[in-house]
Amino acid sequence: MSAGLRSYMPFARRGDCGGSERRSRGYRECMISRYHLKCPGCEEVFVARLGVEPTNGTRFYLPCPHCRLPIRGFMQGTELENHRINIECEVMNGADPELPGALVVTINPFVPSLYEADSFTPSGAFPTLTLVQILGQDAFTEFESERHQALDAGRLQWPRVRMLFQYYLQGNAKMFTRIATEQFGLDWEPTQAHQRTSIAYQAMGTVTTTIAGTTGNRSATVIDRFARKHTAAMQRHKEHLVAFRARGKQSAALERDLFTELNRFVEQHESWEMGLLVRFVGQAEQAKFEDLVLYRDEFSTVRDLYQQGFELACKCIWPLVAAQNTVKRGSPDDFGNDHPVTVPANKQARSLAQYDKLPNAYKIAYAAQVPGWESLGELLNNKHRNTIGHATAHHDLQTGRIVSDTDPTGMTYLDFLGHTLGVFDALSTLAQVLRACRVAASPDFGVA
Ligand SMILES: [Zn+2]
Repeated sequence: MSAGLRSYMPFARRGDCGGSERRSRGYRECMISRYHLKCPGCEEVFVARLGVEPTNGTRFYLPCPHCRLPIRGFMQGTELENHRINIECEVMNGADPELPGALVVTINPFVPSLYEADSFTPSGAFPTLTLVQILGQDAFTEFESERHQALDAGRLQWPRVRMLFQYYLQGNAKMFTRIATEQFGLDWEPTQAHQRTSIAYQAMGTVTTTIAGTTGNRSATVIDRFARKHTAAMQRHKEHLVAFRARGKQSAALERDLFTELNRFVEQHESWEMGLLVRFVGQAEQAKFEDLVLYRDEFSTVRDLYQQGFELACKCIWPLVAAQNTVKRGSPDDFGNDHPVTVPANKQARSLAQYDKLPNAYKIAYAAQVPGWESLGELLNNKHRNTIGHATAHHDLQTGRIVSDTDPTGMTYLDFLGHTLGVFDALSTLAQVLRACRVAASPDFGVA
């Protein structure tokens, strides 16, 4: 195998890649490159049409059309000058430009594509055209718009938020104010800790909600309902405040973990961002997506994010449940008879402390049974978690699906990315819930 062959490929239009705030639409459609590849196994030569985008680093694979051997590759580069593509096989560009009769395959690590497509079938000319055909022009335009906003938010805005939040966590009020003023245009001085808490979370929320997308997103409903319940609970029941104060230290640790996890998600955003597409796929389109494959080879990276994010999100649900208990029954510890049907009688929570010890599925069920918070049960779906988190779960490169011994049908890689976006969305939502805990436990409001 002659691994490590490099070839440099130009972007279609130079000004379009990276660096600039506003990228023009459409250049992605231009970036299909043709390669003549020699399979390192069966040694047959074939034509690969490879989709290319600016990237900080993308692992992909392409199955040989003759023997189905998955040939792996890597591409990296956000500028014309530094872009490179490695394919673990012999690249025969230029040797025989026509290759009459050779098999042609289409591989795109950035957009789900039809493997058999060649440039002579209209829907397969460019993978994005395949999407237009399935979704319709309007939905596709909206998807592209949300996708670009999400990518820009992660690349351009998040580094500033990260800096602000790090000064917040360090308790460096001077640098916090300086960054908030210089980078975020704050025109007053936050002299109190709870003011800095609000500013830090607001900045974080602006970026994370953009990355989570708007279509099909119900995060605002969860946060609004919580805010109303929490405010009412604080005003009417001292016990509620006492519970939040008692958990001040625990919330501070959660805050640091949540920020760390959100940062990991954003740093790896490229690997799961296509999960956004799932939110634009209705029942009618679902079947058509079963034929498309996203040729990314990053399962272990994304699964780590998914699993750690899922676990952490479940630790951040208690304030929702506490607010519901207080509003309904006057105490955050009083669960009354409001137990989800999925929770067996001997597991029903009798206090917040007991609730903390429940398995994740039950924790989620307590919140998801409350009107307005149902979406949390969908974002944090335990059935999918069991498939993805199972010890035998793997990415089957022949079918492009995530499968395990207990779930041999599994799910498409695209759906897997959709669930990963769901976990990020849950973390982004619950961060704004945690903000209320941090404000309630603030030293500004007396001894905790
Ligand atoms: Zn082969």
